[in-house]
Amino acid sequence: MNLKIKFVGIGGGRRATLTQKIKTGGIYLEFSKNNIDTKLFLDPGVGAFTRALEQKIKFIKIDGLLVSHCHTDHINDAPVTIEAMTNTGRTKRAGMYCPKTVAEHISDYYKNCLEKVITLRANEKFKIKNINIKTTKTIHTEKFNIGFILEDFVGYTSDTIFTEHIAEQYKNLDVLILNICFFKNPYKGKDLGFGQHMDAYDAVRFLKIAKPKACIMYHLGMSILNYGFEKTRNYIQSNSGVKTILPEIGKTYNPTLTVE
Ligand SMILES: [Zn+2]
Repeated sequence: MNLKIKFVGIGGGRRATLTQKIKTGGIYLEFSKNNIDTKLFLDPGVGAFTRALEQKIKFIKIDGLLVSHCHTDHINDAPVTIEAMTNTGRTKRAGMYCPKTVAEHISDYYKNCLEKVITLRANEKFKIKNINIKTTKTIHTEKFNIGFILEDFVGYTSDTIFTEHIAEQYKNLDVLILNICFFKNPYKGKDLGFGQHMDAYDAVRFLKIAKPKACIMYHLGMSILNYGFEKTRNYIQSNSGVKTILPEIGKTYNPTLTVE
């Protein structure tokens, strides 16, 4: 199996999204398995469409749109992405895979452009072409939020707090895309939406349990920009012992996480 991962954006959280000081936009994945290519777009947040166009992603070839939950930095550009994937519905094709909150939020006009809309909960298995995908549990303000594990190779935590149980779902993957919104989350444990995101300290605890071959930092918030991207990466890598990568927007990574 071969895989290419392109980070259309890397930002997340309200302040990064609303200021675009860290560009948001989602993740594009291209699998090649047994001579079948499968192209997926994950969490098309604010700016995803424009940035993906600039990065020469061919929407009409995308087989599946995966949306983890109904927050702006994950769902905002789903409608226009669906239009581009289906030639504004003239070519009914591809699918959207998402929790029911996302399916309810997207109007029938867009859903009818697609061949299928599959609603998912945590701990379900499904296929897009020949790619096996599992959904994972999260704990987040959007209760129906899900993460994904693709081909038991690459995992995406989506937005969640850290618990041992949540980290255990991702054991021994090759690549783990970890949503880290803060260097140190001052809202942790408080009854606030901001509290339900991981910080660098959670990332270390998560990686010591999940033990992936490599971790990619994603969904980066302003607190990480202020502390320093490289200092945060170094903190996570040196304390977890897991190779940690800060992705560059628009660059394509191969399965060993080197830039192509
Ligand atoms: Zn969220």
